[in-house]
Amino acid sequence: MNNMIAATDPSLKKDDLILVAGAGGFIGGSLVRYFRQQGFSRIRAVDKKPLPDWYQRVEGVECISMDLSEKENAVRAVVGATEVYNLAADMGGMGFIERFRIECLRSVLINTHLIESAYRAGAQRYFFSSSACAYNTILQQDPNVRALKESDAYPAMAERGYGWEKLISEMFCQEYWAERGLKTAIARFHNVYGPHGTWDGGREKAPAAICRKVIEAKDTGKHEITIWGDGHQTRSFMYIDDCVFGIDQIMHCDRLIATPINLGSSELIAINALVSLAEEIGGVTLQRHYDLNAPRGVAGRNSDNTFIQQVLGWEPKTPFRDGLAKTYAWIEEQYSDRKAGKRIVHD
Ligand code: NAD
Repeated sequence: MNNMIAATDPSLKKDDLILVAGAGGFIGGSLVRYFRQQGFSRIRAVDKKPLPDWYQRVEGVECISMDLSEKENAVRAVVGATEVYNLAADMGGMGFIERFRIECLRSVLINTHLIESAYRAGAQRYFFSSSACAYNTILQQDPNVRALKESDAYPAMAERGYGWEKLISEMFCQEYWAERGLKTAIARFHNVYGPHGTWDGGREKAPAAICRKVIEAKDTGKHEITIWGDGHQTRSFMYIDDCVFGIDQIMHCDRLIATPINLGSSELIAINALVSLAEEIGGVTLQRHYDLNAPRGVAGRNSDNTFIQQVLGWEPKTPFRDGLAKTYAWIEEQYSDRKAGKRIVHD
């Protein structure tokens, strides 16, 4: 079993430069914070969003706002970097990825420029954030799905747009290792949730959206909730802390070079059960309405964790109830700050 992480990797020094792309977003921002806490002193964080809009800004980190789908910016971003983590993508929940397929597909430019630049700049390792949306959708037509294992991506019938972009970018990572010897790591994330994620505005995913709707219903006194689909869709959800630790382990495991691997929880939860849990946390019961015309994605999706358990001994540590309670509390705070007219501060 391989349990190496950045902090214990003998080939990585605490002042080696780590580049995190997409650092103004949810997972990228949390990864930056994590590496800082691990004692890494030189971290460069890059995101297309203007700096005040980043979800987290971590002290002592070089933060740059630039668009990595432009080649010259990608070249600039990786100068001097020992490790490169690509968490940048134009993405969101089902509402976004079913509607904006071109934006999702265009993320291929980010990875294409970043991996070539990382290779030319002599980076030691390169991480790509893939997705469960890369899996064959035909295997996901039943809410009681069997969990998806890594080989289920082929024959390919990925989520149109977003999923195909992930598959082709995975292939880039595999070929940069096969042909050019760049050590690449590829994790297929399954629904990540937690504080500091998108919770409003159209790109949010189910756990954040449901928490916000419960909070809104309590606040307005209108005790109703609209759920996308029939509520029987199932997913598994991974708490952000488990995700960043998994990224670190996957990146520093030589057995996993250029090998896509699931990073997710294997606890299957129906959307209706998610709503019940959010209601319980909020201390309220709402009348449910089902919008059958809303985007709902595949009927069911779960992560088969046999491979990651076998290679890394990794499994999520955070029970869904605990993670959702923390997420709910954070969104509630954001909600009341915004209501009080405060700019939502991302510390
Ligand atoms: P996010 O939207 O919070 O973060 C992505 C960040 O990338 C955003 O801040 C965005 O501004 C930035 N970005 C987009 N285009 C860019 C560009 N051209 N140049 C520089 N920055 C750009 O999303 P997230 O949840 O943090 O996701 C991170 C990665 O994980 C993405 O690759 C995503 O596809 C993948 N992923 C996430 C989940 C999930 O549940 N959150 C699931 C599967 C895969």
